[in-house]
Amino acid sequence: MHAPTETTVHTHEATGTHVVTRFAPSPTGYLHIGGARTALFNWLYARKAGGKYLLRIEDTDRERSTDAAVQAILDGLAWLGLEADGPPLFQFARADRHREAAESLVASGKAFRCYLSQDEEAARKEAARAQGLAFRSPWRNPDHGTPPQGASFVTRLRAPSENEFIRVQDKVQGVVTTAGREIDDFILLRSDQTPTYMLAVVVDDHDMGVTHVIRGDDHLTNAARQTALINAFGWQVPTYAHIPLIHGDDGKKLSKRHGALGVEEYRDMGYLPEAMRAYLLRLGWSKGDLDIVSTEEALELFDLEGLGKSPSRLDFAKMGSVNAHFMRLADDHRLVALLREHAARAGKPEIAQSDHDLAIAMAHLKDRAKTLPELYDQFGFILAARPLPRDEKVQKTLSQEALGRIARLHPILAALADWHHTEIKATLDKFAAAEGIGFGKIGPPLRAALTGGLPAPDLAIALELLGRDESLARLGDVM
Ligand code: GLU
Repeated sequence: MHAPTETTVHTHEATGTHVVTRFAPSPTGYLHIGGARTALFNWLYARKAGGKYLLRIEDTDRERSTDAAVQAILDGLAWLGLEADGPPLFQFARADRHREAAESLVASGKAFRCYLSQDEEAARKEAARAQGLAFRSPWRNPDHGTPPQGASFVTRLRAPSENEFIRVQDKVQGVVTTAGREIDDFILLRSDQTPTYMLAVVVDDHDMGVTHVIRGDDHLTNAARQTALINAFGWQVPTYAHIPLIHGDDGKKLSKRHGALGVEEYRDMGYLPEAMRAYLLRLGWSKGDLDIVSTEEALELFDLEGLGKSPSRLDFAKMGSVNAHFMRLADDHRLVALLREHAARAGKPEIAQSDHDLAIAMAHLKDRAKTLPELYDQFGFILAARPLPRDEKVQKTLSQEALGRIARLHPILAALADWHHTEIKATLDKFAAAEGIGFGKIGPPLRAALTGGLPAPDLAIALELLGRDESLARLGDVM
């Protein structure tokens, strides 16, 4: 029995190569929220290091890959502001290069042609499994025999010897050692000469100069086989960081029933891209007790050491509070534009008010909402068209006595020199005092007349935001 030998692995980190990361989604319909997080981590890591972040579309599954799905990924990444350095690389288009790479391994003896029939292969796999060994093809042995005339073959990697060990040094998972006997003579080229996923990933990562692979830990088992293949090529192994997948709020693997999976759904739910980035960042990465980390801060702070080992759970309450935080910080005019976009996308009536008026209102209303639809609702009292509908509660508030007061207040407000909330507030206070009543008597009916019961800020501010003409008209409507 030979002493186990360890393959020495040269990672890019050890040699300090210029950092190149990549995001390699399979186009299956939309940009998955977990994929978006993977893209973000790769983008941050490369940007922080002054390196390159590349995009590779893994479109080799011809049945599932569509142009629309590719577009959805590009749109999702663009919305998130995670554009790659350079055009995307399409994996399927590189099949010739993949074949050529596999053939070079056959030539160097690191791969071989296997002529087993399906039945023979199945029987050998079964036998290997019974012994707790990975499948090895007899054709790995150069002396196995002459290939049957005209028989079809697949091209397989000559897997590491049984007493060899493959060590993957993972930034998240630590050192993951896989015994050679656990790695099978896996297929590189199928019998129709199409490259397998395992081959394509390794060749593409190499050709793109990828130094760091940050991806979901569902690929951790692939890393050992990919490392074996990289070693066969004699290439440098990238630094790996396999991140735990995102789970639902119940701790189970994320699925449709936990809520939206596609990033575009989050856009439609009214989250801001910078909020999404901050939320996704904390969903799997932390530093000290930092909570909400902006992208600018993350570009200074992000590191692989901060990646967590245990899956994080999607938490909509948290996402809402992160979004509220970024809405408060956002430019008012930008929010107005987003509000119009939201209304159009959600099929809500077109907003008639001017950008100028809406931006003034925005400053007062944006900290009252967690998402764009909620923000739209906060604008409801402004956007509502006269005459406002009156429900029973509004009707009750507008008593004869209250209407009398509104009628007396109307000319006073009409004569106000400066339509500003401090002035309006002072006038309302003076009016209440003159009427010999507390503000509690005049506030609710005024509010009912001006808003029809819709949510609205402080009365004086609501009046200012509605503007003099609209306010007087609404008061006139109930009088
Ligand atoms: N295409 C793979 C996926 O979408 C990713 C492969 C990789 O990152 O190596 O899961």
